Amino acid sequence: MISPGKTLGVLGGGQLGRMFAHAAERLGYRVHIYEPSTDSPAAEVSAHAVHAPYTDLAELEAFVRGCAAVTYEFENIPTGPLWQLENAAVYHPKWQVLEIAQNRLREKTWLRKNDFPHVPFAECEVGGDLAAAIRSIGLPCVVKTADFGYDGKGQLKVADEASLAKAVSSFQGHRAVVERWVDFKCELSVIVARTAAGVARSFPVAENIHTRHILDFSILPARVAPEIQDRARALAESIAERIGLVGLLAVELFLTDRGEILVNEMAPRPHNSGHWSLDACVTSQFEQHVRAVAGLPLGDVGMTAPAAVMVNILGDAWKWSGDRCVGEPDWAALLAEPRAHLHLYGKKEPRPGRKMGHFTVTAATPDAALELARRLKAAL
Ligand code: AMP
Repeated sequence: MISPGKTLGVLGGGQLGRMFAHAAERLGYRVHIYEPSTDSPAAEVSAHAVHAPYTDLAELEAFVRGCAAVTYEFENIPTGPLWQLENAAVYHPKWQVLEIAQNRLREKTWLRKNDFPHVPFAECEVGGDLAAAIRSIGLPCVVKTADFGYDGKGQLKVADEASLAKAVSSFQGHRAVVERWVDFKCELSVIVARTAAGVARSFPVAENIHTRHILDFSILPARVAPEIQDRARALAESIAERIGLVGLLAVELFLTDRGEILVNEMAPRPHNSGHWSLDACVTSQFEQHVRAVAGLPLGDVGMTAPAAVMVNILGDAWKWSGDRCVGEPDWAALLAEPRAHLHLYGKKEPRPGRKMGHFTVTAATPDAALELARRLKAAL
C-alpha cells in the first residue's frame, strides 16, 4: 500500500488529471503531473508539473523516479520510453495495457483473441486494398484509423459506392480498421477499478448519448433491464481481469436490438462517462482510481441519488461571432438550480468541440434528470 503523504505521478495533464489530482490531494497524496503542453488543467491544481515531451527520456526518468506510483489520464502516450524505463518506477496500469488500448487494431485483435464480444472488423495495412476490406465487411460500415483516434476523429461511415471511393482516397497512407455498422439500441459504458490484489469493482452502467461523435449526455442508471446491466458489468470486470488491469478501465459498449452487448472501445483511465460519480456516487471514479493505484481498499460504488445525468459543456456553448469568441455561456440558470453541479476545467481558450467543463444533475428518475439536464443546457 502506498500511504497518504507519498507522491502519485500522472502522465497527461488534461481535465481527467485535474479531477484525479483533486481526489488524491483530498486523501493526502501529493500529485505530480507530466504534460508536454503548458496549458494544463491538471498542472494548475497539482503540487508539481513537468512540461516536456513524452519522448524525453531524461526528463521522464527523473519524473517517474520521484513518484511512488505512476498512472495515466491519457492513453495515447508513446510506450517505447515507458518500456525503457520499466524498472525505474511502479506503473499502474502497466504500459502493455496502454499499448493495446491506444490502437484500435490491437484493441480489436486482443478482444477477438480473448473471446470478448466485439464489432466484426477487417484490417487494412498502409497501401492495402481498402475497397476489398470494406466489401468483406459489407455496407454500411465505418472506416477508422488504427492509431490515435478518439471522439470520432479519423472515422468515416461508408454507406454506398460514392462514400467507398471517398474512404479509399482519404485513408490513403493510413492503417485502417473497417467495422460493421451497428444499428445499436443504445450506447453503454462501464468503468471498472481493479487493485494489484485482483479485487475488481465496477460502477453502475451509464447510458451515453453522443452528438457528432462527442459524448453529450450520460444517463444513470442506464435505462435498460437489470439483466443487461449485470451482463455489461460482468463483461467489463472480466476484461479488467484478463488484461491484468491495476487502476481504472472504461469499456464502451453497444447494445443491439437483439440484446447483444458488443465492446466498442476501451480506455485504461478515468472516463468522461464517469464524471457523474463526482456528484451522485459514494465514491467518485477519480477517488477509486487513486485507491486502486495506491493499493487502498476500493470504495463503495452505490449511487447517492435515484438518477443522475451528466452533460458535457463544449466550447460551442461560448458566444461566437464567426470564429471569434465574444462571450461566455450564461451560467445563471445552472448555478441557480440546487440539483445541478457545475465543473469547469480552467481551460483558457474555448474552441468548438473542446471539452471545457461538465455539469451533473440529480432527480428521481433518469427521464426527469434528462429533461432537467436538457433544459439547463439550452439555457447556457
Ligand atoms: P469511437 O471513436 O470508435 O468511440 O466512435 C465514436 C462514436 O461513433 C461511437 O460512440 C458511436 O456513436 C459511433 N460509432 C463508432 N463505431 C460505430 C459502429 N461500428 N457502428 C455504429 N456507430 C459507431
